[in-house]
Amino acid sequence: MLFQDLNLIEPILRALITEGYTTPTPIQQQAIPIVLQRRDLLGCAQTGTGKTAAFSIPILQLLYQDRLQHKEQKTIKALILTPTRELAIQINESLAAYGKHTGLKHLVIYGGVSQNPQVDALRRGVDILVATPGRLLDLMQQRFVNLEHIKMLVLDEADRMLDMGFVNDVKKVIAKVPAKRQTLFFSATMPKEIQGLADSILTNPERVEV
Ligand code: AMP
Repeated sequence: MLFQDLNLIEPILRALITEGYTTPTPIQQQAIPIVLQRRDLLGCAQTGTGKTAAFSIPILQLLYQDRLQHKEQKTIKALILTPTRELAIQINESLAAYGKHTGLKHLVIYGGVSQNPQVDALRRGVDILVATPGRLLDLMQQRFVNLEHIKMLVLDEADRMLDMGFVNDVKKVIAKVPAKRQTLFFSATMPKEIQGLADSILTNPERVEV
């Protein structure tokens, strides 16, 4: 199978060629069609399997197609939650690479650095926000982030978020995201606690394991 066989739009295929990608990895082959159908997804996959592209590519495609049909809104439409600053930066770099011909705006926010540049960037308008939970909650509480128009939510490395003690933060964030949304949930392991969290935030998900 090739990326051309996944019904991807030309601006994304062109970017993938530049990246040197030709063949989707197993998680990408399985997840991309499910996400493009706007279904919820429960993905059991480790880092290194290509899971970042498995959610980033279809998110970019759906938001690009939505934008062709709707009026441009300067609000956040997709939120990607991830446990660490390093992962957040990597995801943002992937969005930059795969989305460079889409014109969609993405931003990464994380703690341990000044919030001012992040706040300035939020004010300029963001389509896709990548965030670690603590800084996101901080900025939400100060009303710099509005999640009312989120259509797509990703929980990346859910088991690590639990291990790092972020579960309550994650739940507080999700409480502010519309219930009518598409949710993608990724975890390397699926212990009971993680399965319970997944059950509470996913609607009729397709399950993908690699
Ligand atoms: P991830 O599991 O998302 O952290 O991705 C692992 C690495 O594989 C990253 O460096 C990606 O750039 C790379 N990668 C992801 N998908 C593909 C693909 N289909 N072909 C070649 N490289 C890929």
